[in-house]
Amino acid sequence: MLDTTKVYSYSAVLMGSPILLKLFVNDEALAARVFRLIKHYEDLLTVNRAQSQVMDINHAAGKHPVRVSSPVYALIKCAKAASTLPNSAFNLAIGPLVKRWRIGFRGDSVPPAEDIARLLTLTNPQQVLLNDVDESVYLPLPGMEIDLGAIAKGYIADRVRDYLRKEGVEQGLINLGGNVQTLGTPAGLWSIGLKKPFSQAGAMIGTLEIADKSVVTSGVYERYFAQNGHIYHHILDPRTGYPLDNELDSVTIVSADSIDGDIWTTLMYGMGVEKACATLRARPDIEAIFVTKSKEVILSSSHHYRFTLLDNDYRLIGSTV
Ligand code: FAD
Ligand code: MG
Repeated sequence: MLDTTKVYSYSAVLMGSPILLKLFVNDEALAARVFRLIKHYEDLLTVNRAQSQVMDINHAAGKHPVRVSSPVYALIKCAKAASTLPNSAFNLAIGPLVKRWRIGFRGDSVPPAEDIARLLTLTNPQQVLLNDVDESVYLPLPGMEIDLGAIAKGYIADRVRDYLRKEGVEQGLINLGGNVQTLGTPAGLWSIGLKKPFSQAGAMIGTLEIADKSVVTSGVYERYFAQNGHIYHHILDPRTGYPLDNELDSVTIVSADSIDGDIWTTLMYGMGVEKACATLRARPDIEAIFVTKSKEVILSSSHHYRFTLLDNDYRLIGSTV
């Protein structure tokens, strides 16, 4: 019988993010294989190095289509579908703007308005041309760039879950720097902290208790810089080319698959609380927790998790049953 009171934690830094794996068995070799799997996907998908399958597509922009492996093709196809939903704030072709702003990387600054206007013309997701026959991707304009930063960690978290299941692990947790995916229910439920925006490491607004679910948080406080009293964060509005400006400090999504959590945090960011809650009424499989700048915690619903508020600076709105 597995002792679920004894947790073994393994950590690494991959994809510029702290990675945490929790198991209830002491198995360094398994942890090493999980980190190798993450590294394998990072090597295929990164745009922070000169070479990867995604960079091969980007380097060939305006020149020729590039055939990629099936998982990379499927992920790009999924990212394009999310990007071409009506009024979507998600855009896989946002790369030229991400590279220009450099938010979260050295050398970040507010670009001149004319640079943003020019780069916006290179970010139409409809122009990411997919060929299902040979699984190739073509960016027809020189300077176009795919960026999977808003979806790849979710995709990889799901692959880690599948791998752990295949290895016979019934209970475990992987955290890819804000993308949490869990297996099973150790001694009750998993307890996941909801980070307090712009606070010291470890400060929490509350906790979510879940089982067999993913919890993905996207916040403006993770990667940003301040200039003239204004915060410029890393979630860009594909309509304007500037960071999305609304009432939100963070959005958390509880869902079965982490890829959905990653996509929906960005979609929700673009909608704002009211429209987001209305949209989620038709999607009982996707639940959101919004943290607003005015210190409200708003739950769209909470059928698949239990939320406990710990910080009295915040006001809880929405059902907690
Ligand atoms: P999310 O909100 O899920 O995504 C925000 C990110 O998506 C932005 O950082 C940008 O890349 C992109 N984006 C911005 N606006 C939009 C939009 N409207 N639609 C779609 N996408 C948008 N960080 C490092 O510091 N160094 C690294 O070497 C590094 N390598 C990475 C390799 C991989 C494979 C991945 C997936 C990430 C890597 N990162 C690295 C982190 C990356 O730069 C982003 O910061 C991270 O993916 C953001 O994830 P998130 O969940 O915090 O935010
Ligand atoms: Mg995301």
